[in-house]
Amino acid sequence: MDMPSPRSIKTTCPYCGVGCGVIAEVQAGGDVRVRGDPDHPANFGRLCSKGSSLAETIGLEDRLLSPRVHGAPTDWNKALDLVAGKFGQTIREHGPDSVAFYVSGQFLTEDYYVANKLMKGFIGSANIDSNSRLCMASSVAGHRRAFGSDTVPGCYEDLDLADLVVLVGSNLAWCHPVLYQRIAAAKERRPTMKVVLIDPRRTATADIADMHLAIKPDGDVPLFVGLLRFLARNRKLNKTYIRTRTSGFTEALGAADAIDLYALVRLTGISATDLERFFELFAATERTVTVYSQGVNQSTTGTDKVNAIINCHLATGLIGRPGMGPFSVTGQPNAMGGREVGGLANMLAAHMAIESAPDRERVQRFWRSPRIAEKTGLKAVDMFRGVADGRIKALWIMATNPVVSMPEAENVAAAIRTCPFVVVSDITAATDTARLAHVLLPAAAWGEKSGTVTNSERCISRQRSFLQTPGDARPDWWIISQVACRMGHGAAFSYNDPAEIFAEHAALSAFENIGQRDFNIGSCAAINYEQYEDLAPFQWPRPANRQSVARMFNDGRFHTLSGKASFVPVQVAAPAATNAMGFPLTLNTGRVRDHWHTMTRTGKSQRLSQHYGEPFIEIHPEDAARFHIGDAELVRVSTGLGAILVRALITPRQQLGSIFVPMHWNDMFASRARVDVLVPSLTDPVSGQPALKNIPARVERFTAATYGFAVLRRKPSKIDATYWALAKCHGGWRVELALAANPEDLSEFVLALVGGTADVIAYHDRQSGHTRFACYEDGIPTGVVFLAPQPVAVSREWAISQLTHPDCGSRKRSTVLAGRPGSSAADRGATVCACFAVGANEIAAAVASGCSTVAAVGTATQAGTNCGSCRPEIRNIIERAERPTGPQAALVASS
Ligand code: SF4
Repeated sequence: MDMPSPRSIKTTCPYCGVGCGVIAEVQAGGDVRVRGDPDHPANFGRLCSKGSSLAETIGLEDRLLSPRVHGAPTDWNKALDLVAGKFGQTIREHGPDSVAFYVSGQFLTEDYYVANKLMKGFIGSANIDSNSRLCMASSVAGHRRAFGSDTVPGCYEDLDLADLVVLVGSNLAWCHPVLYQRIAAAKERRPTMKVVLIDPRRTATADIADMHLAIKPDGDVPLFVGLLRFLARNRKLNKTYIRTRTSGFTEALGAADAIDLYALVRLTGISATDLERFFELFAATERTVTVYSQGVNQSTTGTDKVNAIINCHLATGLIGRPGMGPFSVTGQPNAMGGREVGGLANMLAAHMAIESAPDRERVQRFWRSPRIAEKTGLKAVDMFRGVADGRIKALWIMATNPVVSMPEAENVAAAIRTCPFVVVSDITAATDTARLAHVLLPAAAWGEKSGTVTNSERCISRQRSFLQTPGDARPDWWIISQVACRMGHGAAFSYNDPAEIFAEHAALSAFENIGQRDFNIGSCAAINYEQYEDLAPFQWPRPANRQSVARMFNDGRFHTLSGKASFVPVQVAAPAATNAMGFPLTLNTGRVRDHWHTMTRTGKSQRLSQHYGEPFIEIHPEDAARFHIGDAELVRVSTGLGAILVRALITPRQQLGSIFVPMHWNDMFASRARVDVLVPSLTDPVSGQPALKNIPARVERFTAATYGFAVLRRKPSKIDATYWALAKCHGGWRVELALAANPEDLSEFVLALVGGTADVIAYHDRQSGHTRFACYEDGIPTGVVFLAPQPVAVSREWAISQLTHPDCGSRKRSTVLAGRPGSSAADRGATVCACFAVGANEIAAAVASGCSTVAAVGTATQAGTNCGSCRPEIRNIIERAERPTGPQAALVASS
């Protein structure tokens, strides 16, 4: 076999909406290294911990390599014929609205384009929706209400230029780390720059904030309505801008006038003094950017929140100029590309409206399609309701995992189980959703795919393949086009490569567009394969023979009928009943620093799995005391829909009365931690986006008979425990576990966990009840298991290191059984810096030896000197200036 020659390929990171440029360096032996692309305008060479670890996620472990029908491998012809035949038959018997596609912000724009074209133009239904509905649909709806188009006005450079950055419902430090680092660097250069964080939690983002407003969940609408009222009452309005560039101000102010300062304090939970400080700062600062994300969008009032923010920028004219404007940042890497092709149930294509008959006629004529969807299709939550009640009889889920990520996730799983025909295209069969498919189609993964993505600042970049597609896997655009051809639409779907699709998408954006639609990339309408291969990142719009536009609306013209921006009169609703009977706490869900979505990729990286090894609940110390929950104990979190089991992380960063559980853990990595099982399917009435936050919940301490921690060389095939969480680690796997009742034979339990036929030595301390096992095969350690009546307090990092230490005979084995480092081995503590594997104890030691700044700790330990994602945690350790101890410290690097 020929060895590949070394090469460097410019591509983009497939995780968040920052859209960082990546250089993939393929070594002569086939190994891949990634680094940031210094020329890419999104990141100028920076990557966060997730982007830096991309090379660890491209292995073939768990890859789906051939089509499968009812679990049996088959060939593409049979699989595609079956999918096309079943969809065709269902449409003939029950009509076009009896089928649906549920797609993904992981799709490249070309994948999205063909899926949308097939469903809306050739099947004739708009039943295509995306997991981006869960991420930013409220921002889309808010933009369209205010601007008449789904347009992000500003660009990343505005974050460098702003004098005030307001971060609303956004843990930018963890969810968009490269943008966070960009703001942190700007603030370091210009210390007069101010950052305000508005978030119920004191997240890592608070590290650079001059002011943290710990707002009540869903208090954002009152806050920004109150700001509008303050601006009006303190003569801080831009009356010329309001008069000449906007409409509806009087109505919006009328709605704002209904709320006074006392009501504001009650609804936001922020003191009158802090509210006034923030309002005065906003009113006094011209260069102000308001960045918002899922904390704003994932709410039953998400669209109103977006418009309440935009209203304040319109009232002051702070939009369309350098260093100012409202700025929605997306969670998914190509949520924006999906919006551009209209890949949502309530959009058409190229920023045309499904409600508009002329737009529908135009798109149909361009596509030369036999029909066109005439009405909005089923949005994500309604789509799965349609599956449950039998309206949807054939469902194709592409590149996403709704059994983990959708609200009422258990009901979604039940609905899929009852659907007569379910197709899943994915890179792996090892997802909670793929397990339920009748037909599995193997898709190409990042590194194998070729196409374009659009990031949060409207920048379109190429994603380029640098790996051979393994087995029978194929790109999504190819799979969808092949099904379309077999459904009889070959003339419209006979694409040879993604360049042809991109050119068609660009041509549609310019088709009969003389400025009515701002999404116009007509300059790429005639792009050929070579030009597409070389395409450099550019911001839209870029019509034919014109340059890109960095900031929109700088001419004060908008895409409404009047050409003016619209104020939206936002009503302040009574806050949701968060203290529902028996559910005294408010559950918020979200992300952690080093995992992505449902962990199907980041779960493969041992580096990324170091930061948080198991699912957890953040709870305030007073709430923990109220519910008798101690450090690192297990907690049952429940709502009216079900219960999950997670580890307690007690921290004052969490607001009293609120709890936080991350959304990532699935059934592959934990026994019962899919938090979306707990989330009701309540949606924003305008955007259809589900509220994944502000959920009434309760907590109870879960008492186990035995707690355990194990490091294993082999991945266990089954873990027979009441609670377990599995994570990759250096040399194997780590398992946290708990047993409701003690097994009859502990050794048998341990051998089943370790697998194989091990040489086992054990130690039991009668007084403490601790039992430890060390297992070896041919002198090689295959597992170390610690069991105790309380949460196990052994250093996780030290235990993991035992897997890769050679067995040095009985002395070494007795050290292992002692469950603590020998006198010569330092305990590094929980990993804080994933890039250089620096532990909390090493950082604390550096602090104790005199390092009083993040930079000094970096010089001493390397921590924080690469991607920078861990710098807030390093600063936190410096501030606490104490060495974390106990199981909690071993469990979680930050609090
Ligand atoms: Fe990827 Fe991190 Fe950049 Fe987001 S910030 S695109 S996850 S490298």
